[in-house]
Amino acid sequence: MTKYLSDLEIANQATVRPILEIAEEAGIPADAVEPYGHFKAKIDTSKVTTNKEGKIVLVTAMSPTPAGEGKSTVTVGISDAFKELGKSVMVALREPSLGPVFGMKGGATGGGRAQVLPMEEINLHFNGDLHAITTANNALAAFIDNHIYQGNQLNIDPRRVEWKRVIDMNDRTLRQVVVGLGGPFKGVPREDGFDITVASEIMAVFCLSNNITDLKENLGKMTIGYTYDRKPVTVKDLGVEGALTLILKDALKPNLVQTIEGTPALIHGGPFANIAHGCNSIIATKTARKLADIVVTESGFGSDLGAEKFMDIKARKADIKPDAIVVVATIRALKMHGGVAKTELSNENVESLKSGIQNLEKHIENLRLFGVEPVIALNNFVTDTDAEREFVQNWAKEQGVKLALTEVWEHGGKGGVELAKLVLEVLETPQDFKHLYDLSMPVEEKIRTIVQKIYGADDVVFAEKARKQLKTIADNGWNEYPVCMAKTQYSFSDDPKKLGRPTGFNVTIRELIPKTGAGFIVALTGDIMTMPGLPKEPAALKMDVDADGNAVGLF
Ligand code: ADP
Repeated sequence: MTKYLSDLEIANQATVRPILEIAEEAGIPADAVEPYGHFKAKIDTSKVTTNKEGKIVLVTAMSPTPAGEGKSTVTVGISDAFKELGKSVMVALREPSLGPVFGMKGGATGGGRAQVLPMEEINLHFNGDLHAITTANNALAAFIDNHIYQGNQLNIDPRRVEWKRVIDMNDRTLRQVVVGLGGPFKGVPREDGFDITVASEIMAVFCLSNNITDLKENLGKMTIGYTYDRKPVTVKDLGVEGALTLILKDALKPNLVQTIEGTPALIHGGPFANIAHGCNSIIATKTARKLADIVVTESGFGSDLGAEKFMDIKARKADIKPDAIVVVATIRALKMHGGVAKTELSNENVESLKSGIQNLEKHIENLRLFGVEPVIALNNFVTDTDAEREFVQNWAKEQGVKLALTEVWEHGGKGGVELAKLVLEVLETPQDFKHLYDLSMPVEEKIRTIVQKIYGADDVVFAEKARKQLKTIADNGWNEYPVCMAKTQYSFSDDPKKLGRPTGFNVTIRELIPKTGAGFIVALTGDIMTMPGLPKEPAALKMDVDADGNAVGLF
């Protein structure tokens, strides 16, 4: 049997080229490149001044299984395939969070022969961006508590401080804490909590701002809590938006790296797609468009999460649209949606595909609602069988949807040429992009539209707390914001166990959190948490460093 190398082994064997060479090939002016070591650089976007507006290929996926189904892998692989076809192309990806790296899902640098490099550094502390975001977030928490301690001129009600502290790790014990204990000189006691950094509003603002001035303005608009008479208090009221921007100023420059095949990649910003909006920074996407004819970018999880938020949040803020969409599907995930246990996924089971395929069918229907024709990338696993592949290929033909068998994990860009050609056909055909809902609709109706049209639910149910928050939203004039749904990635419903294409269900909104800096309302569904926990056997148990300082067991 063929022995396949781990992602880390493949990454370590690859030749990484000096980042200055990659930058030059990408057409980035030399004075815009700020190297961080030999293989990474930050880009001063003010010096990238072309008028080019490259086309956007958005990569999304069917509902994933717990292992992740290769969306980043296909994003990197199709970019290398475009390069193989002689196209000018750039990838724009999210930065990994240490939570999933040490927890269960893994990193965000692709896999097999379709990876971005240097994978180890990108997965750990990548140029310090997530640390800067964590610091800015917690600095704000310190400014708030200090303000209350020093006399509370703004009349902030400590029981209504909404701003949470963050850490970039899955740490369930920090979900609810009490701060300020220990007497009058230790601050004013209040209930607090931690979110994971990638769910923080600063991360969202960071990704949704168009430049540093926009960033400062949006940071200033963030609501940190309410006064005793229930008036919202903003960062601007505290007067610290300048300080927060200062902490973030270097992080705001996108990071340039390369794929194994030397395609330039901008990796910047990393909000999760289940509990945040799930797309890399607007700055990275727009910079890539100035440099390449084709920009391949990923939104997290399926059409129900990252893709919907790309269309209804990011596309609006950035004034962009996807020109083509790739949906990554795997036979393993289809089988799981058809009822096969995780341990049995390597055995042929065509029967299970017949029901499992309904999950993919719904994702295709969803993407067509946005007016852009999707192309399926069937991400091939070596355990998939001919009969299984044939079933999915025939199904796609019957549905009239383009599908390419994609072997980028095994073969790199060459394994994605068929997919790239199909996507080029879409790029050459004008698409009729539209948002799912109108911003003028009240938040309640926007949520109803999403759950009915995208999730296939009968209706939405608002818990009492969420009902009251709908009133606060209306009273404060926040109804014009889009909605950022926080929902499990495993199901179209708010119950992670309802796989496939569930019907006959309602979606419950537990809580609504206005993010007035990011410019959206977060709607928490079901049991979703903004601070995940680690699994019983976290990936950390397999990790080590050898005596030469090389990572071991990082995927
Ligand atoms: P996602 O972006 O959907 O979370 P990734 O692209 O990060 O998924 O891939 C998750 C893991 O699955 C990686 O370790 C990658 O090497 C592995 N993987 C992806 N595609 C394949 C494939 N076709 N065959 C085997 N392993 C794969």
